[in-house]
Amino acid sequence: MSSSRIGVLALQGDYEAHLKALARASENAVETIEVRRPADLESIAALIIPGGESTVMGMLLERFGMFELLKSRIANGMPVFATCAGIILLAKNIEASEQTRLGVLDVTVRRNAYGRQVDSFHAPVQTTIPEIGTIDGVFIRAPKIIALGPGVEVLAVYQGDPVMVRQGNIVAATFHPELLPGAPVHRWFIQSF
Ligand code: GLN
Repeated sequence: MSSSRIGVLALQGDYEAHLKALARASENAVETIEVRRPADLESIAALIIPGGESTVMGMLLERFGMFELLKSRIANGMPVFATCAGIILLAKNIEASEQTRLGVLDVTVRRNAYGRQVDSFHAPVQTTIPEIGTIDGVFIRAPKIIALGPGVEVLAVYQGDPVMVRQGNIVAATFHPELLPGAPVHRWFIQSF
């Protein structure tokens, strides 16, 4: 058990990009682990949930016996940073979907909300966090956050929609900060707990 080890949920999706971003953000100083089993989940101080396919990730969390454990670790305050499919997995409400979700983040999301023509694009995203500032947001078949609970703080907006939010120990973005060369969001996340 390491008190500072950061896990990246590695069941599916773009977890490798997050591991590399953590290495860039910390000049290899942070210890990371690919989380695939309950014991991995028990050994970490914080977790990143990557983009990918939220339905598959939900199914695999159940299959590998991690669903309830992850939910309780988050409820008990473990810092979590989720991107894209990760925010869908955390959301309390998913428009027009019955898919498995952890339901710990008080938002409503709409999957694949940017439509087919522009399902992937990048655009400047202005955050409220001085250490991060304005970054290049890469949106890949991204969801939209269409409703927020009262305890959810907006950290970044794009075209009037919240694209990065925080609720207690949970930070979630609809885009992909792991693709930024300097990994400023990962750097900030590491320093936030
Ligand atoms: N469209 C995916 C989903 O609904 C999310 C896309 C992504 O993570 N890049 O799970």
